Amino acid sequence: MKVDILGCGVDMVDMAGALEKVETFINAGTPHHVITLNAEIIYRAQNEPKLKKVINSAHLVTPDGAGVVWASRRLGKPLQERVTGIDLTTELAGKASQKGWKLFLYGAAPGVADEAAENLKKQHPGLQVAGTSHGYRKPEEMPDLIAEIKKAGPHILLVALGAPRQEYWIREHLQETGVPVSIGVGGSFDVLAGRVERAPVWAQKAGLEWAYRLVKQPSRFKRMLALPKFALKVINYNFKKR
Ligand code: UDP
Repeated sequence: MKVDILGCGVDMVDMAGALEKVETFINAGTPHHVITLNAEIIYRAQNEPKLKKVINSAHLVTPDGAGVVWASRRLGKPLQERVTGIDLTTELAGKASQKGWKLFLYGAAPGVADEAAENLKKQHPGLQVAGTSHGYRKPEEMPDLIAEIKKAGPHILLVALGAPRQEYWIREHLQETGVPVSIGVGGSFDVLAGRVERAPVWAQKAGLEWAYRLVKQPSRFKRMLALPKFALKVINYNFKKR
């Protein structure tokens, strides 16, 4: 079951449902693309048909932001909760350590993916990280990176290049890498490595994580301008439908 938010299908899953789906994908063994979608990217997709196509061809699209959950309620098909890239990564690391699934971390500045991997391993003893790479490899280095990933043979590839760069990258290389599950996780490695602080739980629960990130990283201001525009579009869409 999906909710259509301005032409982008979002799966009506909570965290438990998303984890179940990922397990099904791993058991199937064929490549699957998972997107944790936020309002900013849905808004961008309005003028980027290519992006909308990537979103709607993914095997699982989870509601990453408070804006997406809010929109689903306004559109009469309420999503239960946010399933963010960082939470999905943490939960999957726990499950991977029990099931013997291997992870590969690709993205963020040099050193960050390694630190994130070390911290995940500390939190989840027995977790296998099959490889890491920073996120600033040149286009001509892509064949090497793909070869590294294939050689490592992970079950889950976490790609932290920021949205929508990571979604385009995964779409382009999904079949080539052959990894059962590839997920775009945005700035998650920076948080896991302890380089960026996540909003406190009360702010997350109040749907105010975006505001916290804005205060901590004021350079995000321009990107945030998409949020009120997204809200207006959802309100108008709902109004037209009535
Ligand atoms: N990044 C990268 N390669 C690039 C551009 C960005 O690895 O070519 C990384 C960047 O270092 C950061 C992440 O992508 O770790 C983007 O984080 P941001 O918080 O902007 O992502 P969002 O969660 O908003 O998509």
